[in-house]
Amino acid sequence: MDKKQELEKLRAGYTRYIRAFELISIGINLVLSCYLLGAYPLSIWSYIVLLVMTWLLADIISGFVHWFADTFGKVDWPIIGNTFIRSFHEHHLDPKSITRHDWIETNGNNFFIGIPVLLLVLLFENEISAQVVVGICLLNIWTSLTNQFHKWAHQNQVPQIVDRLQAWRVITQKSEHLVHHRYPHDRSYNITHGRLNPLLDRIGFFRGLEILGEKVLRFRNNRHI
Ligand SMILES: [Zn+2]
Ligand SMILES: [Zn+2]
Repeated sequence: MDKKQELEKLRAGYTRYIRAFELISIGINLVLSCYLLGAYPLSIWSYIVLLVMTWLLADIISGFVHWFADTFGKVDWPIIGNTFIRSFHEHHLDPKSITRHDWIETNGNNFFIGIPVLLLVLLFENEISAQVVVGICLLNIWTSLTNQFHKWAHQNQVPQIVDRLQAWRVITQKSEHLVHHRYPHDRSYNITHGRLNPLLDRIGFFRGLEILGEKVLRFRNNRHI
């Protein structure tokens, strides 16, 4: 299958069911987040500390999910195959396609990731501290919005406030992210803000995980594009 045919096949995977899945994911995630954040107010300093900590953690999580999808993910896997894996593969073949996705298509998958975690928090909310509850909610906000940051890194024109946030490297910068788009797409996986990419690439963090996945867990390496 040539590149054009593969791209058309991946694009055809974006059905109205996937659209409904995205809309429902965004709705459930927002309801759970608003409820939990409203129920556990903290001091302004606690919010600031937790925002910074979760900002760092979200970057590593974004890299891990991205690396896993690129390296071992297969489009025919149930649930995550036609959602996450398909969109990562489509993105390598046509990096600008993300700029043509609307807000729901861009962010729906990432809003889904947080739902099981928020449900667990809800289940055990009496057994964990308010700081942990709020921390998980803030982490969920960073991870839910990560693909929006990623989309902005591919856009030629962004709103002025986004341009400032990129310049301060609060969110992913275009030049930082484009390192990942050079063949064979094996570095700069983090896409929340990417500040940790140089360090993780230098120490071979994801190459180490790759060896672990192949040799210990017997995953097949699918990084073909
Ligand atoms: Zn990638
Ligand atoms: Zn990209």
